[in-house]
Amino acid sequence: MLSLLRRITQEVAAAESLSAALDIIVRRVRRTMRAEVCSVYLVDPNSKEYLLMATRGLNAEVAGSASLKPDEGLVSLVGRRAEPVNLEDAQKHPSFHFLKGTGEERYKSFLGVPIIHHREVLGVLVVQHEEKRRFDESEEAFLITLSAQLASIIAHAEATGAMTVFNKSQDITHSDLRYKGIPGSSGVAIGTGVVVYPPADLNAIPDRVADDPEKEIADFREALEGARKDIRQASSRLSQHLSSDERELFDVYLRMLDDNMIASEIETKIKAGNWAQGALRQVFLSHIAQFNMMDDPYLRERATDIRDLGSRILSHLQESAPSAANRFSEPSIVIGEELTASMLGEIPLDKIKGLVSVRGSGNSHVAILARAMGIPTVMGAMDLPYAQLDKKSMIIDGYSGKIFTNPSERMIESYQQVVDEQKVLEEEFLVLKDLPCETKDGHRMSLFVNTGLSADIGLSLDRGAEGIGLYRTEVPFMVRERFPTEKEQEYIYRKQLEGFAPAPVTMRTLDIGGDKALPYFSIKEENPFLGWRGIRVTLDHTEIFLGQIRAMIKASSGLHNLKIMLPMISNVAEVEEAQSLIRRSFMEVKEEGYDVQMPQIGVMIEVPAAVYQVKALASIVDFMSVGSNDLTQYLLAVDRNNPRVADLYSPFHPAVLRALLNIVIDVKHEGISLSVCGEMAGDPMGAILLMAMGYDTLSMSSTSLPKVKAVIRNINVEQANDMLEQVMTLVHADAVTQTMTRLMREADIERLVKPSKSNQSEH
Ligand code: PEP
Ligand code: MG
Repeated sequence: MLSLLRRITQEVAAAESLSAALDIIVRRVRRTMRAEVCSVYLVDPNSKEYLLMATRGLNAEVAGSASLKPDEGLVSLVGRRAEPVNLEDAQKHPSFHFLKGTGEERYKSFLGVPIIHHREVLGVLVVQHEEKRRFDESEEAFLITLSAQLASIIAHAEATGAMTVFNKSQDITHSDLRYKGIPGSSGVAIGTGVVVYPPADLNAIPDRVADDPEKEIADFREALEGARKDIRQASSRLSQHLSSDERELFDVYLRMLDDNMIASEIETKIKAGNWAQGALRQVFLSHIAQFNMMDDPYLRERATDIRDLGSRILSHLQESAPSAANRFSEPSIVIGEELTASMLGEIPLDKIKGLVSVRGSGNSHVAILARAMGIPTVMGAMDLPYAQLDKKSMIIDGYSGKIFTNPSERMIESYQQVVDEQKVLEEEFLVLKDLPCETKDGHRMSLFVNTGLSADIGLSLDRGAEGIGLYRTEVPFMVRERFPTEKEQEYIYRKQLEGFAPAPVTMRTLDIGGDKALPYFSIKEENPFLGWRGIRVTLDHTEIFLGQIRAMIKASSGLHNLKIMLPMISNVAEVEEAQSLIRRSFMEVKEEGYDVQMPQIGVMIEVPAAVYQVKALASIVDFMSVGSNDLTQYLLAVDRNNPRVADLYSPFHPAVLRALLNIVIDVKHEGISLSVCGEMAGDPMGAILLMAMGYDTLSMSSTSLPKVKAVIRNINVEQANDMLEQVMTLVHADAVTQTMTRLMREADIERLVKPSKSNQSEH
């Protein structure tokens, strides 16, 4: 049963169009269940009617035109109830409605299951029999399982325009097609898309119009020859170590490459207009899908070999292709299936207008970097047909997470107003640079910045930061091909410390794991956010930890403005162990003759265990900073990186607010400084609430700093306390944000938060 389900799902996923996919569904389900009829109805998003899209057993001629009203017939009953309806004699049911022209009058038994994606009923899958009998439990379970698996494929296909349904043109050349993602970094970008992709990843290659098909064919042939050479070399290199059976595998590879069919299929696609890499992807993925569908496990395994061959040819092709940096002749909107910090590192910053990542969420690290750089960003645009967007004109709205492809003049004009308004606001904020961050009634707050890139230093000082509250040291580790040496680290850290001296610079020790991978230090885990992450990795690798600490302390020589912060602390022992290593490093560096002082040592409070042990931790450290990004993730058990659960991720969830308030209450009398350095601190709404709770330092991206300062300078403490008091009584995260929006409007500070145009519903 399992393999049957898998095969049907794979076949459907590989279909080239919605109608082909639906046709496979009805054909395969009818055969597998030995049903006389199988049909699929999809809901028209406009009229809400159920349109018969595909059928086997009913009159196929009416497919595409016969439909049921939202409250008509058993099909709509399944949709409205969002649960299966299983009847021995459908015609006796009061909701039965005979759909003219289908020929269904012969069929008595009826089983309909809803096709549900993200709580929305997309349609109904129906099987019918002439004989009066209830479908049994296992038949019902099979149809439910299949429908659940098919739902996301259908939703994706509908949304990405792989299909034409309901006369809603999905042609990417049409104006103002709208796609939904998750806000990553605020701001609007209007420009042309450039699709980037990791090297040698067949799936990630976009389609692109070939400028010179002849050259593309020549490049492809050369790459093919390169791949052949690799295999011959590998075969002779390994010949003494392999049995004849194993050597045979290389011959099979070579025969596949010599098979003119694949090569000529690729060349045909190039002649039809695609560039060599796109044509290679199309042809290889379709062959891989065919092998994956085979019943014979040996043949199914061959899909891996085919993929390997495709990747080999691809890496040869990519050797001759221009580098990412060279492809950016003008500032563009960078689009990727999964953008990473190292990908961004390869593109000159002045060439990035906006960012779109199909995977990831608003609190993924790439979104945090984008906010630090002030680049409008949309994350988690799961249904975006990104492979087709190279060189296409588009608008991205980082406030709401929307993307418009091929925008009309009207849409461009309207969004241009948002861009202009944003500029005006930014200029207004410039005058705030040298003014203190204090409320109207004189309560002083300290605003620090989060950094990671060297470019941050100048930007942060320009915007009036009072110090660095979080320097994410993993960023310089991520953009290299090996661990940086102690000397290299010292140089990088010195720039941060010097740039801000005498103001304090809080350097966090390496926080890798979770969604922060180093290309040269792979951590593969089932559950990376609960695994080997942050302090857990560095305490297990003292050579990395000590090298980093020594580099930090040496870099602070003569400046004395270093603070060291430990990430992912979940127990007291980790702090004690790290402290003793830091003390040891300090003594060593001092003995080497450096003019250094013992740095203050602090911890991040970002794991629920640390919240409950906050007093014990406070008694042994010099400072604390709440990492609200991870604290939200771990308290709510919501992966900060997963777009599927992004709606559940909110630092304004009452449980998170309660934890934040309790931390202040618990450490108020411990005499240590307490800050927040998660993204919430840079959100004006969050900043107001945190100030009212009693946090005295907020650390945020330099882009958020002027906005937060403007907001704080425009309210008084009493107003903030009143807002906190009101929201602490609420039980829903949405109610908290709605109430805060209203209260901020009443206090006349909403205007400072985002351009008024970006709120308009037409967007
Ligand atoms: C946090 O978790 O809030 C934090 C500041 O650290 P990071 O986002 O780097 O995990
Ligand atoms: Mg964190």
